[in-house]
Amino acid sequence: MSGKVDFGFESVDEHDKARRVAGVFDSVATRYDLMNDLMSGGLHRLWKHFTIDRSGVKPGDRVLDVAGGTGDLARAFCERVGPEGRVLLTDINGAMLQLGRDRLLDEGLRVDAVRCDAEHLPFPDGSFDCVSVAFGLRNMTHKDVALREMFRVLRPGGRLLVLEFSRVWAPLAPAYSLYTLKVLPLLGRLVAGDSASYRYLGESIARHPDQDTLAAMMRTVGFERVEYFNLTAGVVALHRGYRL
Ligand code: SAM
Repeated sequence: MSGKVDFGFESVDEHDKARRVAGVFDSVATRYDLMNDLMSGGLHRLWKHFTIDRSGVKPGDRVLDVAGGTGDLARAFCERVGPEGRVLLTDINGAMLQLGRDRLLDEGLRVDAVRCDAEHLPFPDGSFDCVSVAFGLRNMTHKDVALREMFRVLRPGGRLLVLEFSRVWAPLAPAYSLYTLKVLPLLGRLVAGDSASYRYLGESIARHPDQDTLAAMMRTVGFERVEYFNLTAGVVALHRGYRL
């Protein structure tokens, strides 16, 4: 018997969510980078920069970027780990992954791309010094399963970074809801000819666990020293936890 899960504000069969999410990213892939800049006013670059800054990644490290899409984090990690290190760009979606891999290879960066589901990572236990997931966890059907997998593939002492939309500072909430639920679908329609995918984006932001709930979920699967950093008044939060 299968349960129901959120797909934005819709409640769908849990076996159906991954297919619906795949439909969204198949549809947005080619305009993904442009829309990211447009919708965030370029802020996503600063949020990602902050994430890299807090990663503690150093030359020679092995890094796994989960749900890496078009490869922004993977690119920055490549520069950090240097020729002795290794960065794996992974995503469940072939269209997003191909764009990311091609872009990084065109830039002369050495990155391995693996298509895989975060809920079933095809890597042995303890393989990585750092695992990152940016704006991906929100889309996963079983977030607890994905977090457990990320914990499993980290070596003792390794760390997970989760960059994700979160709960905005309360006084800003009404304006922010207006933006995510009304303006984003409109922008999606005007720029990408696709309001449904951007409606899902806004709704999935509203449904995602808040800062403390996500921190508790990370602790439940075994992460320690879990903390989070609110960015842009909590529009986004970076969570960091260690496998000790
Ligand atoms: N990390 C990139 C960034 O920050 O620009 C891409 C983020 S994009 C909003 C979300 C990505 O999550 C998509 O590429 C999607 O295919 C991927 N994704 C969704 N569910 C996934 C899953 N179960 N396993 C791996 N990737 C998944």
